[in-house]
Amino acid sequence: MRIAFLGLGIMGKPMAQNLVKAGHEVRVWNRSSGKIVGGAHGAATPADAAKDAEVVWLCVSDTKAVEEVLFGNHGAAQSLRKDAIVVDSSTILPSASVKFAERVRAKGADFVDAPVTGSKTGAESGQLIFIVGAKQETFDRLQPLFAAMGKSAVRVGENGKGLAAKLSMNLMIALTFEGFAEALVLAKKQGVDLEPLMSLISQSMVRSGVVDYKAPFVLSRDFTANFPMRLMHKDIHLMLEAARQNGVKLPGLETVDRVYETSRHEGNSELDYAATLTTLEKASGVSER
Ligand code: NAP
Repeated sequence: MRIAFLGLGIMGKPMAQNLVKAGHEVRVWNRSSGKIVGGAHGAATPADAAKDAEVVWLCVSDTKAVEEVLFGNHGAAQSLRKDAIVVDSSTILPSASVKFAERVRAKGADFVDAPVTGSKTGAESGQLIFIVGAKQETFDRLQPLFAAMGKSAVRVGENGKGLAAKLSMNLMIALTFEGFAEALVLAKKQGVDLEPLMSLISQSMVRSGVVDYKAPFVLSRDFTANFPMRLMHKDIHLMLEAARQNGVKLPGLETVDRVYETSRHEGNSELDYAATLTTLEKASGVSER
């Protein structure tokens, strides 16, 4: 297939690379120059990349970035083929995504929200999970591309429903990690060694995928970004906005939002969101080791 891939960040670059590996003809564009994908052609603008593409795939930071890449000056919408499919893997506000879908459909093309879970390692190893809002027939047409980049794709419903499910899942990740971090701080302050504690966690019902993934990084104090704190905080704000729009109360998440605020004021925005642990440690006078 001829694919335009727009946005070559932590997630987008390996996703585009896996499309090339699967034999697709890929044209890539990134806002700042210097990011390349072996075997792909470069494009000067999103419109240039989207010209003649059967599928235009996006993976950029936030709602504003998606709007700019699609509908800004030299945006992809200017050159979309009528039978093209635009797929957005960015995590953005579901209600905004529904409006983007309407604007793309008005041009004759189709639109799919397909946010992902699996983080940097999942993107690199082609093991992402796609959480999809789309028409069934469009979802079916995209199967070879989901397979090139991921281990599964689940259609949740029509446009916006993929993002609504993704935000709910990320809410669980944010709360689960802060639960783990608070448990570590309470245990350490009471003099518990982390080695037996981790052994207990891994054998008991508090074990979770989030803890399995994050524990090795946390124990080695490696807070380089797999999922940068600024992006998880962006997602927390999306969850709170979706909750506000739908009349839902999220008291646990509101508290976690304040932990992120403090942590980012401490200069941790570009670190992994796991670095919120250091903020909890500081607040409780717990030493790092
Ligand atoms: P990232 O490394 O920060 O990359 C962000 C990408 O968006 C870069 O290509 C950046 O371009 C581009 N961008 C930002 N603002 C833009 C704008 N106004 N116009 C055009 N391009 C713009 O982020 P990432 O980790 O790849 O995440 C991408 C999306 O996937 C986010 O929505 C994130 O929430 C979601 N996600 C991330 C993870 C993860 O673990 N990292 C997991 C699941 C979902 P420049 O290079 O020019 O800055």
